[in-house]
Amino acid sequence: MTKFQLVDLPYAYDALEPHVDAKTMEVHHMKHHQTYISNFNSALEKVPQFNDVPIELLLMDLASVPENIRDAIRNNGGGHFNHTLFWNSMGKNRGGKPLGNIAIAITKDFGSWDELKEKIKSAASARFGSGWAWLSLNKNGKLLVHSTPNQDSPIMQGLKPVFGIDVWEHAYYLKYQNRRGDYIDAWWNVIDWESVNARYMMALGSL
Ligand code: MN
Repeated sequence: MTKFQLVDLPYAYDALEPHVDAKTMEVHHMKHHQTYISNFNSALEKVPQFNDVPIELLLMDLASVPENIRDAIRNNGGGHFNHTLFWNSMGKNRGGKPLGNIAIAITKDFGSWDELKEKIKSAASARFGSGWAWLSLNKNGKLLVHSTPNQDSPIMQGLKPVFGIDVWEHAYYLKYQNRRGDYIDAWWNVIDWESVNARYMMALGSL
């Protein structure tokens, strides 16, 4: 089988300072993401019949995975998928206002960029314990804000994620401790709108 491997970030661990600190990025990527990948590979070894199935299809159809291995695939495959998307939604010297088609869609579906930020913050704050806040595209091409617990991914619900913010404490605790809202506010300084817009266009094109 092809084992999944941890891919280097497209930027240095300190690239997102001061908004996301270097130590958090390093531990998050090298330890947390690596653990999801290692456990995902271990789980896949037990279901060789699924080893050539793309990760997206596997996560979209968890019911087809044998029950004894389903949670391991869901949590660790979801963890790998979500983190890959997360790293690629951020960048050095990014932030600013939405651009391109995603900017138009945000205004159309939420009224304004400020309104979207409020909705994301509410979703992130309301997520009890660990999980994610998302902007996703539904089957009708409409954007929606939602959150998922643990490492559940929008694709498990038939949605296409445009970007997600990791709200597990491991994503912010070293710098922000209990202040999840401050972390969310700061995260808008690192969002890579070009990458997010490209993912939005891909999602729209695949409806
Ligand atoms: Mn994480």
